[in-house]
Amino acid sequence: MASTRSAVVVGAGIAGLAVAGALAGTGWRVTLLERQDRLRAAPTAMLLWPSGVQALQALGLASGLDAIATPVPDRGLRRPDGRWLVEPDPASDRGSAQLVHAEDLHDALVAGLSDRVELRTGVRVRGVAPGATAAVTDGDQTWGADLVVAADGVDSVLRERVAPRCRTVSAGATAWRAMIPWFRAPELPPDLAAGGLTISAGGPATGGYQFFMASLGRRGAAGAGSRGGRYWRATVVGAPRPEPPETQLTLLRRWFAGWHEPVGELLAATEPGDLVQQELRTVHPMPPRYATALGAGALALLGDAGHSLPEHLGFGGCLALEDAATLVAKVQGAAPGAPLQTAVAAYSAARRPRLAQVQRRSRRLAATGPVARLGLVQARRRDQAVAATTSWQPPMAADPS
Ligand SMILES: Cc1cc2nc3c(=O)[nH]c(=O)nc-3n(C[C@H](O)[C@H](O)[C@H](O)COP(=O)(O)OP(=O)(O)OC[C@H]3O[C@@H](n4cnc5c(N)ncnc54)[C@H](O)[C@@H]3O)c2cc1C
Repeated sequence: MASTRSAVVVGAGIAGLAVAGALAGTGWRVTLLERQDRLRAAPTAMLLWPSGVQALQALGLASGLDAIATPVPDRGLRRPDGRWLVEPDPASDRGSAQLVHAEDLHDALVAGLSDRVELRTGVRVRGVAPGATAAVTDGDQTWGADLVVAADGVDSVLRERVAPRCRTVSAGATAWRAMIPWFRAPELPPDLAAGGLTISAGGPATGGYQFFMASLGRRGAAGAGSRGGRYWRATVVGAPRPEPPETQLTLLRRWFAGWHEPVGELLAATEPGDLVQQELRTVHPMPPRYATALGAGALALLGDAGHSLPEHLGFGGCLALEDAATLVAKVQGAAPGAPLQTAVAAYSAARRPRLAQVQRRSRRLAATGPVARLGLVQARRRDQAVAATTSWQPPMAADPS
């Protein structure tokens, strides 16, 4: 009888948690290494597009999603003065996203780790370990397995082994996010309560200043099993701010002063402790492949480690879940006992065109200039980019016999 397959997963973000849980759920022995002292998610929210939901279903991790996800209706696209670039259309695909509190999704993925996952926190992997097996090291200890999964985020130390020419570079923009708990979220009239996206013209890589808002409703009241509140995300051209959160909030209120309601109300209700600041960075150039042979085993890149693209703001987590679902399907299809190199090459081949397509579409979305500033072109590109997200199907696992 073939022995149990094993994997070492580096990084316990969305990508690492999803792949670790799914592999363990199908009988693999999994070690999950995370550099932080405990598993945690930022107190923000995340848009889950249909491909992300399909990937979670394929991974067997979607149970309980209904309890934590809130559909985000299409709220169109506006200019800062409130005029419509695109009016809301209830029949549009733009309304097919769901909003989840990042901590709720994180909790669901952690719950998906079965007792076959050996979790090691406080372990900062430094690179691949030399030798005949597929292994990583933190400088003191070594962890080997049939499969090493690099899910260690945009600053991946393992990417070098798969795509040595790729670097992490700034996209020239910074994002702030906040989740205002329901008890201090502003009361809003129904036409403003559902939220929406507002964009200003110009600016590299991001399409200018943006403000996105959506609601998770009253969830989170005493005794509730999931979190609620009002979520917003602001994208600003420029470097991250070194000042304390109080000053960052003052700056945000100044930058977005004069934007249509309820931008000001949301920023007024935000407290400095709610703010999560993140520089937008990207992996450049796009890796030519997402996996390689490693010793007798294999190494695969997942999530932001392989393709953090700022234009995907609001989609990178779903791409990470797609990666996880594809990798699991491909390695499940490998013949028992056979090395995994062929399976991870199939993973890489399956992901490359998909990621290239999404990248092309989102670059077009981010392009600025006199034409895009008219708004309608920008809006059409946005629709095309959104459509790209909905067209993905998880691969079927091949019969390993
Ligand atoms: C402002 C903003 C808004 C976004 N909104 C959305 C959205 O609405 N929907 C969506 O789908 N996506 C969204 N994204 C993208 C999404 O957040 C990311 O694509 C996703 O979180 C990537 O997950 P990951 O697991 O690949 O990487 P990460 O979340 O970065 O996780 C990597 C993990 O690896 C650990 N790690 C790193 N190095 C090491 C090491 N050497 N050793 C051990 N552990 C290590 C880290 O501590 C971390 O836990 C957004 C991104 C931004 C910046």
